[in-house]
Amino acid sequence: RLPVLVGGVIFQDQPWQMVSFVLDNSARKELEQRKDAFISMASHELRNPLTTMKMQTQLVRKRLEKQSQHEAATALSRVEGPVKQLERLIRELLDVSKIQAGRLEYVREQVDLNELLREVTATIHHLHPSYTILERGAVEVSLLADRDRLGQVFTNLLSNAIKYSPDVRTVEMDLSASDDAVTICVHDHGLGIPRELHDKIFERFYRVADSKRKAIPGLGMGLYIVAEIVKHHGGTITVDSAVGKGSTFTVTLPLMKDD
Ligand code: ADP
Repeated sequence: RLPVLVGGVIFQDQPWQMVSFVLDNSARKELEQRKDAFISMASHELRNPLTTMKMQTQLVRKRLEKQSQHEAATALSRVEGPVKQLERLIRELLDVSKIQAGRLEYVREQVDLNELLREVTATIHHLHPSYTILERGAVEVSLLADRDRLGQVFTNLLSNAIKYSPDVRTVEMDLSASDDAVTICVHDHGLGIPRELHDKIFERFYRVADSKRKAIPGLGMGLYIVAEIVKHHGGTITVDSAVGKGSTFTVTLPLMKDD
């Protein structure tokens, strides 16, 4: 057998070692590149909301000095969005490190799913008033789950549906239930995801890189956390999507009885 030179190391008679070296190396390289991209994007993501907050609070001060209370209140309300953005970013960074360490904690309680989804959609609508969120097929379902964490799942899916739909400003959420499971589908009519990346998007720090998404902020943590929470609740998450047509994320959760 001919010796093969890979990255300065000569392998002879050990083709399997060579293959695994090449795979390990390219996987490691990909993760390193992803981490580098993550750090540079994280700096932007942290700085942008802070810049807005700084500008708006300066404006509040100036307006108050001029006794323009109404304008001061308007400027102050513009701080809400970036504060939420930062809060979420920091929460997600902590969640990712907890998941990595196997220390993400859950509190179980009976959760009224309709009520939870109503709250989530109201919050998202408040942040994105130009988007319509249609809820279809309300079901009377109470399930044993971590309320905050489930809220995080649907907040993430709806936020993504909006974030990656720059043109069609309607997203839909469909609910259906059987005796032992409830299914929630989040549909959008946005950019879509290439088929070969449908598994990748659930990986830590993975972002689809194409020209249309360049200006869309994000760090590739959302779906990784969502998948982890759904798995913890014994459920499944799948994606059906086509580029230019839109995406559907389907979450199915088992209805466990509290006994
Ligand atoms: P982020 O949005 O911060 O990049 P996520 O983990 O939430 O991270 O999503 C990973 C990738 O999956 C995104 O970069 C995006 O390209 C793609 N994606 C997620 N949801 C959608 C969606 N509804 N439509 C199109 N692409 C999506």
